[in-house]
Amino acid sequence: MPSMTSSNDAPVTPYDGCGRCLLGVRRLSRVQGATSSPARQRDLILDAAARESGHIIGWADDWEVSGDTDPYTRPKLGPWLKDQHGPYDGLAAAAVDRIGRNVEEGLRLSRLNKEAGRLLLTADHSGWWDLDDPAQENEFTLKLFGARMEFHAIRTRNRQRAVQARTAGEVAGRPAYGFMHVRLAHGAKVDHTENEPDSAAVAREFARRLPADETGRVTVDSEAARLTRAEVFSPSDWSRVMYGKEPLGGRWSGNVIKRSCLSDASLGYLTHKGKAVLGPDGHPVRIAPGLWGRPTQSAPKARPAPHGAGRAFRRYCPLGRLSIQRDPTSAPLGRNQPGWSSDTDIPDRRSVLGSPWIPVQDLATSAESRSACRYGSSQKIRTRRTVTRRRCGWTRRPTTW
Ligand SMILES: [Zn+2]
Repeated sequence: MPSMTSSNDAPVTPYDGCGRCLLGVRRLSRVQGATSSPARQRDLILDAAARESGHIIGWADDWEVSGDTDPYTRPKLGPWLKDQHGPYDGLAAAAVDRIGRNVEEGLRLSRLNKEAGRLLLTADHSGWWDLDDPAQENEFTLKLFGARMEFHAIRTRNRQRAVQARTAGEVAGRPAYGFMHVRLAHGAKVDHTENEPDSAAVAREFARRLPADETGRVTVDSEAARLTRAEVFSPSDWSRVMYGKEPLGGRWSGNVIKRSCLSDASLGYLTHKGKAVLGPDGHPVRIAPGLWGRPTQSAPKARPAPHGAGRAFRRYCPLGRLSIQRDPTSAPLGRNQPGWSSDTDIPDRRSVLGSPWIPVQDLATSAESRSACRYGSSQKIRTRRTVTRRRCGWTRRPTTW
């Protein structure tokens, strides 16, 4: 009996080993358009599976994934292909181009699928694909090739549109961090761009803290760590939320902050690749009030942060209760600091993000003073049965313990 999955509207039936238990593969680069909408793809897949007496045991739905992506790295399809989600007998897609728009990747996927003894079904082909049949192999390759050509055509068209809009001084694409486009009607052209209060406040705060710091400890990377800890939406998540999507829980990075500080977009100009677009009069085209002025923009350039400064070269104690972070100016902590794990070793990194941390130098100083309190300021060397004490000015012969 089919049941609906909680995450989407597509029915699934349990794996029963009938040899036709298929995985439904859906892909969209953007969730819109009736011809390749999720519901349309679902219906095509269900029809095709029913025609071949198969049934769908699960769905690998990759939304917002470009057709140029390697299928093995797609968030939902990848784990199935790597056999991490249990058995299935084949793949079912609405069309060949839903598998991929890259000829090489598409052929590799079909070949590996066949080698694993699995079936391949697409709704734009009658029956199962038999890629040992030269005619079918040609058809499959041509369909991939056609999808590739379409992909290039779409990309070229989008780029040309962007160039046209830019030349006309119009806003194209998403607003920079700290800004929002205002449209007078849903789906209408952008009327004007203005500051978005919340993100603008976050950006102004890091742009104020960075040049104001005199300790050398506030760097783009330490600011990134601070914002991640405070659970402020990263610019990509903020952009998603602004467009009504769920945030992905991304982290801030030093590079993002640096780009935001240095980009002409933060000054309120229309930009291309971070640089202001010049209008017919030779002046930058202003589209919104700037988050800050030129002096603030040039401040981080005047004093570049040390390489990798304050970066999350952090080590966590095994319980995730305390982390140490290296000082911007010190040598990096070794990857294999004994007893401490790097944040990349922890599967659920967010669980330790809130843990208190201290700079590694402070930890060393604190440990040293505690040890001096307890054992005295002399250097103590323990050999097997003797203790040697060396003090300033005199040495004592080893004492038997
Ligand atoms: Zn089955």
